[in-house]
Amino acid sequence: MQIGLGYAPVLEEKMRILVVEDEVKTADYLCKGLSESGYRVEVALNGLDGQHLVQEHEFDLIILDVMLPGLDGWQLLQIIRRKLQTPVLFLTARDAVEDRVKGLELGADDYLVKPFSYAELLARVRTLLRRGPPREVEQFQVADLHLDLLRRKVTRNGERLTLTNKEFALLHLLLSREGEVLSRTLIASHVWQMNFDSDTNVVDVAIRRLRAKVDDPYPLKLIHTVRGMGYMLEAQE
Ligand code: CA
Repeated sequence: MQIGLGYAPVLEEKMRILVVEDEVKTADYLCKGLSESGYRVEVALNGLDGQHLVQEHEFDLIILDVMLPGLDGWQLLQIIRRKLQTPVLFLTARDAVEDRVKGLELGADDYLVKPFSYAELLARVRTLLRRGPPREVEQFQVADLHLDLLRRKVTRNGERLTLTNKEFALLHLLLSREGEVLSRTLIASHVWQMNFDSDTNVVDVAIRRLRAKVDDPYPLKLIHTVRGMGYMLEAQE
């Protein structure tokens, strides 16, 4: 005889996916497929509707087409990333490497080149949803440099450094991507929310100011210029 343990059945809340895609056929196909796979799907047929939905509702994943009327996928992604860490899967029609790099630099989590199979899309969707939004790290430490995000406090060798808001944001970005070369366009879009086509000279100026406080007074240099590529923060031997 089995004794019931009295557990209430777990009603699984459906994961919510936003599809931003202007090709009605593709949008319908995605909506139908993902709904059948058990997701709750909202569709926006242009970038502005997509932006509106992102601002009004919470999603677990956003599937974003690059070529959209009004507001394109790049622009929408930049708007999303100012506030949200929701995983974004990019759909790109062209198999151009620059497109993929640009998408990933702007904060997309993965991309699919059209045409793709539904099975392929579903596999990516499942992986991204399992991964979930990255947890915000609050403390960063590289060598004797320390940044506390909550207290907005930066110290080096135990000495408190006074940074402007932009310098703090820039250092936070460099620390959160320690050991990675960050291009000027990526830095500009993260710290100043500037378009990637704008003049990125402002980045060089800000790096110089940041170095004057963070690196110049200390023997071990942490901020490195990578010729023709950008900047990187790392404790090199
Ligand atoms: Ca399109």
